[in-house]
Amino acid sequence: MKAITIRDEEARVKVAMANVPKPGVTGPEDVFIRVLCVGLDGTDREIIVENFARYPGGKSEMVIGHELLGIVAEAGAESGLSPGDLVTALVRRPCSEETCANCRNGRQDFCQTGNYTERGIARADGFICEYVVENAKYIVKVPNECMPYGVLVEPQSIVEKVWNQTMKIQQRMIWRPRTVLILGSVLWAFWRL
Ligand SMILES: [Zn+2]
Repeated sequence: MKAITIRDEEARVKVAMANVPKPGVTGPEDVFIRVLCVGLDGTDREIIVENFARYPGGKSEMVIGHELLGIVAEAGAESGLSPGDLVTALVRRPCSEETCANCRNGRQDFCQTGNYTERGIARADGFICEYVVENAKYIVKVPNECMPYGVLVEPQSIVEKVWNQTMKIQQRMIWRPRTVLILGSVLWAFWRL
């Protein structure tokens, strides 16, 4: 199948259209997804311009792209999904270290070891290709009516998470922010002086 890949060539990154193996379903929780569109963001720019990616073990080539919108083509019997479902995917997969309490509790966004995997960024192929296979526990169903903007679910989740963490930090005190400054997809709230 066709894919957009990056290749590490003497510390420079070469972007290319490539032919890569079509992925296959390996278990009853897997879903086989036809990719509809993939968003590109500042991380992809860093990957290409600053050679930011960490390639999968032993490889010098990787499919990029981590903001997916796709449609389920085949759904494993234990996936909880059905063909035709509109979906996106989480980006990060947990590390395997027993001592990482956050990864062991499904909070790999707060991985304590740094040995996580991120599709299209660190140690795993991404989504700019024709088909993707993923375990259903890393898939998020998107309402079909969100088709025109469903590719924004992943970047929106970053903003939501920033806000949730901000509120958790600030709940220890009386906090009534009135002014908000938005920088890219990072949202900061301030006291109004
Ligand atoms: Zn971890």
